[in-house]
Amino acid sequence: MHMSHEVFGQFRRKRLFIAVVVAALVLIFTLFIRFMEEKSRIEQQSKTFAGNAIQRFDRLFSPLDIAANNTLGLVGLPCEQIRSQLIEKLASLQTVRSIIVVDRDTLYCSSIFGDSHTSFSATWPELAVNNQRMILSTDDHLLKGSPILLLWTPNDTDNRAGIIQIINIEMMNNYLLEPTLPWVERAILNVGGKSLEYGNPMIEAALPSADEVSYKAESLRYPFSITLFGPAPERLALEKLPSQLPLALLLSLLLGYIVWLATANRMSLSWQIGYGITAREFMVYCQPLINSRTGNCSGIELLLRWHNPRHGWISPDLFIPLAERQNMIAPLTRFVLSEVVRHLPDLPTCTSFHIAINVAASQFHQRQIINDLQNIWWPASPVPQLIVELTERDALPEVDRQVVSQLHQIGVKLAIDDFGTGHSSLSYLKTLSPDVLKIDKVFTAAIGTDAINATVTDMVISLAQRLNISLVAEGVETAEQAAYLKERGVDVLQGYYYARPMPLGDFPVWLSSHKVRLSA
Ligand code: C2E
Ligand code: CA
Ligand code: CA
Repeated sequence: MHMSHEVFGQFRRKRLFIAVVVAALVLIFTLFIRFMEEKSRIEQQSKTFAGNAIQRFDRLFSPLDIAANNTLGLVGLPCEQIRSQLIEKLASLQTVRSIIVVDRDTLYCSSIFGDSHTSFSATWPELAVNNQRMILSTDDHLLKGSPILLLWTPNDTDNRAGIIQIINIEMMNNYLLEPTLPWVERAILNVGGKSLEYGNPMIEAALPSADEVSYKAESLRYPFSITLFGPAPERLALEKLPSQLPLALLLSLLLGYIVWLATANRMSLSWQIGYGITAREFMVYCQPLINSRTGNCSGIELLLRWHNPRHGWISPDLFIPLAERQNMIAPLTRFVLSEVVRHLPDLPTCTSFHIAINVAASQFHQRQIINDLQNIWWPASPVPQLIVELTERDALPEVDRQVVSQLHQIGVKLAIDDFGTGHSSLSYLKTLSPDVLKIDKVFTAAIGTDAINATVTDMVISLAQRLNISLVAEGVETAEQAAYLKERGVDVLQGYYYARPMPLGDFPVWLSSHKVRLSA
């Protein structure tokens, strides 16, 4: 029983291991998927922010563009003639601080200051010489030091005449580029190599700090771009991960539990035994029974062996009780019966040759053993005498006496196995009327060593003899034990002293090589 607990424990541990591995994999996989989703969501949010900001700036510049083009007709006209029109335009364009008209490379008329004679290419070479259409600059006149954006709309191809609109860009910047935490920490407008950051009135290069990454998007309509700085999406996604943990944990536990339930069947011993029978992992062994008077082999006891590729050899003392508990003993007995039937042609064909099979008490319910014998054993027209060994370990009182008498009627003998090891053994002698008592190997081992058990052995022997029941002594390992049992008239001896259990197919060779004569 201790061993069977161990095997059950092994099955449970294996199932638990698989369930835990699956749960862990599900947990890791779910968290990974959530991490990737969150990361791409953050990346998408930054892209959307930049796209929206560009759209807003484009919408800001578009009417200015139109207004400038409409004003180009004034270029070249005297300043006193056009200034009032400039002021009028200015009033309609709220974002523009002033308009300057350029002709022949001279800033000659300003909406604010009126007449002037400043060199265009000397003041803003980026516009006049480098052909830029926009620049970020610092206001030197009205609000000294505040950032401005110059929008240059040339009138001619050589860039010497046109309209300059000066935009109060700091205000617009703070309006259009407000960062959205946590993924956009800083937003920057870039125009011609210069940058203006949200919340910073200085025009200076904006660089990311050590733990920031940048994302840049350009306008397709105007020469500016937007740069965003923020924490790496991976870092943000990682910070979000703990909040995903409960759900992921729940999912992994659920799947682990499903696996635990699903493997219950596949990994149960009954499944393994059923599989083992079809995969031919079981083998039928036999151990010779020796006639103590003649020394001849008078029969065999069939013993099952299980070689499981995963667990190696499993002792019948271990799997038989488990199989009994899981209602898998009947298929095993049917396997033993069909194997012995298959080997019948190689076995001695005389009625005095005994073939003993081990049967569990549960197989007496509803005539199961009788049905199996009728289906497998009798159709083979066997000559040898069949003995059914019923172990005292089993619930013998529950054995159906009618089935026992039916067995007797169809010519099958009944043996009580392990006699003397269970409780109230004596009562079965009356109720089951066995043909054979098998003295358990514990009592055989006691011969010459253990006075109390040896006395029990003597009592069992004389009891059987008085009731006229045949005796088989199991576990005979020494010549001394054999002599002792023979002297007291025990009919049949079985044990390593004569032969160890061997594959059923090897028995004919053993029988002939030991030159054992069969009793008639
Ligand atoms: P069992 O019916 O009492 O079988 C005798 C056991 O004693 C066998 O162990 C056998 O190998 C072992 N044995 C034989 N000679 C000696 C010996 O000289 N010294 C010692 N120490 N042991 C000896 P095995 O084959 O391991 O079987 C253990 C038990 O498993 C059997 O005890 C039987 O109760 C059960 N069993 C085996 N095959 C079957 C089967 O096909 N059906 C059922 N229901 N039970 C089976
Ligand atoms: Ca037995
Ligand atoms: Ca036994």
